[in-house]
Amino acid sequence: MAEPQKKAIALLSGGLDSALAAALAKRLGFEVVGLNLATGFCTGQGRCDTVLAQGLALGIPVRLLDVSEEYLEVVKRPRFGRGQGMNPCLDCRIFMVRKAGEVMEEEGASFVVTGEVLGQRPMSQHLAALELVARESGLGERLVRPLSGRLLGPTFPERMGWVKREDWLDLQGRSRKRQLELAREWGIPAFTPPGGGCCLLLERAYAKRLRDLIREKGVEALTRDDFALLRYGRHFRLSPKVRVVVGRDEAENAALLGFPGDHYVLSLPDVPGPVALVLGEAGEEELLAAAGLAARYSDAPGGAPVRVLVHRNGLTRELWVVPWNKEDPRLRKLRIDR
Ligand code: SF4
Repeated sequence: MAEPQKKAIALLSGGLDSALAAALAKRLGFEVVGLNLATGFCTGQGRCDTVLAQGLALGIPVRLLDVSEEYLEVVKRPRFGRGQGMNPCLDCRIFMVRKAGEVMEEEGASFVVTGEVLGQRPMSQHLAALELVARESGLGERLVRPLSGRLLGPTFPERMGWVKREDWLDLQGRSRKRQLELAREWGIPAFTPPGGGCCLLLERAYAKRLRDLIREKGVEALTRDDFALLRYGRHFRLSPKVRVVVGRDEAENAALLGFPGDHYVLSLPDVPGPVALVLGEAGEEELLAAAGLAARYSDAPGGAPVRVLVHRNGLTRELWVVPWNKEDPRLRKLRIDR
């Protein structure tokens, strides 16, 4: 059997804690390979760039892995519940650590490093949760949290005599003070803001849209495109089987225009205005409502009819509708994500 290597896989989220954990492992003499997992639920643009920049700053190679297809199953059926949004944090951590374990095997590394800090997040970083993740991921002592290592159970690198207990840190709680001091001391630039505010599943509006869609279709039927569409626009429910998504800016309008699938696409050719999608089998009345609703968010003057084009399956027709008034109570009533 091959000798265990003094090599670690460091999960990098783009935040400071995971970068510090990787930096500490490196400072302790381990070869470190960074790993970022793209789940498809990150809010920020350029997250991969951030992680690659961290890798450069730390002087370690970074692997980027797209796990979005598999991750959908975690979001659909979490075993350990969800947080305040639709965030299945414990299942998510278990999944990520398990994936990192697979990369550890591939790379011939001996353990996985994460930036978790004891007591920092209520759902996923209390002691029982950290132990659960170690157990359920199958990594056990090969999962190392160097930032709180002195406060946690023994690890593989300690058992091998590669490090002493005191080499780990004893960070705990929500304060960021020591992390920021260490970042300055070790020359690690600040990247994304700390905390979990970069996950769509934590966002209230996204969670409302997802819950609504689960009520309509059932969780089993949700596809990757269903999840992707929940990122964009204002969402309205016209009936149990018909939804309208109205773009909020040019980028969203472009994304909605190119969105795959069989649905109506509404646009306003005569005035600046949004693109809207109508999903589900909408009747004439619902199409007229969707057109009036979309026109509400256009520059069309109130009170006068405006032309709305309705495209589907290569066919286009015109509807003339009066834009809904900004104060129309239906706007509030039908909005899913207000
Ligand atoms: S906030 Fe999102 S990315 Fe972070 S652990 Fe929870 S589900 Fe996973």
